[in-house]
Amino acid sequence: MRSNLVAGNWKMNGDSASIGKLMANLTAALPAEPGVDIAVFPPSVYIAQVIGGFTGSPVAVGAQNVCEQPGEGAYTGEVSAAMLADVGCRYVIVGHSERRAMYEDSNERVAQKARHALEKGLMPIVCVGETEVQRDSGATLDVIAEQLQSVFAVLSVEDMHSIVVAYEPVWAIGTGKTATPSQAQEVHAFIRALFAKKDEPLAKGLRILYGGSVNAGNAGELFAQADIDGGLVGGASLDAQEFSAICRAA
Ligand code: PGA
Repeated sequence: MRSNLVAGNWKMNGDSASIGKLMANLTAALPAEPGVDIAVFPPSVYIAQVIGGFTGSPVAVGAQNVCEQPGEGAYTGEVSAAMLADVGCRYVIVGHSERRAMYEDSNERVAQKARHALEKGLMPIVCVGETEVQRDSGATLDVIAEQLQSVFAVLSVEDMHSIVVAYEPVWAIGTGKTATPSQAQEVHAFIRALFAKKDEPLAKGLRILYGGSVNAGNAGELFAQADIDGGLVGGASLDAQEFSAICRAA
């Protein structure tokens, strides 16, 4: 009953020409009726271009980040949830580990971003995940629980029906080291159980994506796990053939 979602995080890559080419290649490579939800996340200055290019296509568009402040005002360099919704975004990624590590996105700030996104009708993809040191010290599940605690503190059960969670072990992002299907499944099942403590139907309907070096070769096995409902794909989403193969695996 959960529809799988494959999300392509383009990160800070491309220019208007290469993005135009990637969109054309994706349109050619993806099945007309993919049978899975697909979204791409361009750099913010190209969002309008991509939304325009994908009009009438099954590919939805989202942003890689959003300001944690509600409303508008003196927040130089920031983009609000209202602006993203206004130009036609459907999703927004919040709490990506690169933003947590390099731009001081705390658990609390990530929860605020999710809240304002929801208020404007965007679906937040809330990213959680442990570092290699945390995994090696056996702290993985505690870290994930703490990251989600801030979300539980701010969002109602009703709100949480409109979120997606992405489990992205930091040590697997962009490294070519993927979590094994059973390592990923263990954490996904744990995340679902945390949501079940809030509300059973919420947990059953929650989409939990896996991210971290997903490619056409490993996607099938990962997506076959009971609690993995698709992927958040970085590097491999910049190649239309590879991304389309991942979508077909979902
Ligand atoms: P990767 O990135 O697929 O390149 O590992 C995933 C992500 O950062 O979302």
